[in-house]
Amino acid sequence: MRIILASSNKDKIKEIREIYNNFQVLCFDELIPSFEIEENGNSFKENALIKSKCVFNTLKTQNLLHKTDIVISDDSGICVDLLNGAPGIYSARYSGGNSKDNLEKLINEVKRFESQTSKAHYCACIAISSFFGDFSTHGFMHGFVIAEKRGENGFGYDPIFIPNGFNKTLAELSAQEKNQISHRYKALKLAKYIIEAIGN
Ligand code: IMP
Repeated sequence: MRIILASSNKDKIKEIREIYNNFQVLCFDELIPSFEIEENGNSFKENALIKSKCVFNTLKTQNLLHKTDIVISDDSGICVDLLNGAPGIYSARYSGGNSKDNLEKLINEVKRFESQTSKAHYCACIAISSFFGDFSTHGFMHGFVIAEKRGENGFGYDPIFIPNGFNKTLAELSAQEKNQISHRYKALKLAKYIIEAIGN
């Protein structure tokens, strides 16, 4: 069984590979030239399924899949309570610029709150597309955002997100520490049950 990732996001791919280190994991662009997939769904789940189904069907049409191959995708983002859940599914395109611009925009939004902080959570949906059908799982990580950057690790909004039970941002935690509590880890752990059932 091969797990084929329907993503070109290097940060996500790195985390997924670290968590699925006992599986054969490859990226779809190792099999076919990379292409953009329009994420026009209204939820993390819809967007994750759009990506996994699109890559699965493209590879299937080109006869590049084995019967037990699985395509997985991740759609994820951060939801800030005082911003009514924004940026949510728009986390990757919040500012219209790159991930640094997105982070700066969110810091500026948080600076507008008197509290300089807000409850927030990360959400990840993992979608699985296979010859046995389409499936999805979710994982969440709760905590709060602050109005200043701390730490160098992780990616995206990690420098301003402090998980509940910690006094450090995700960017101040090691990759291993993040991978034990993250939204992506929790969704991937649930997805493992489905993947193992399909692979056996
Ligand atoms: P997607 O590629 O459309 O799923 O967008 C995901 C976006 O959400 C990323 O570009 C980041 O901005 C944000 N994001 C998701 N997961 C994380 C994480 O673990 N740390 C930091 N930012 C994240």
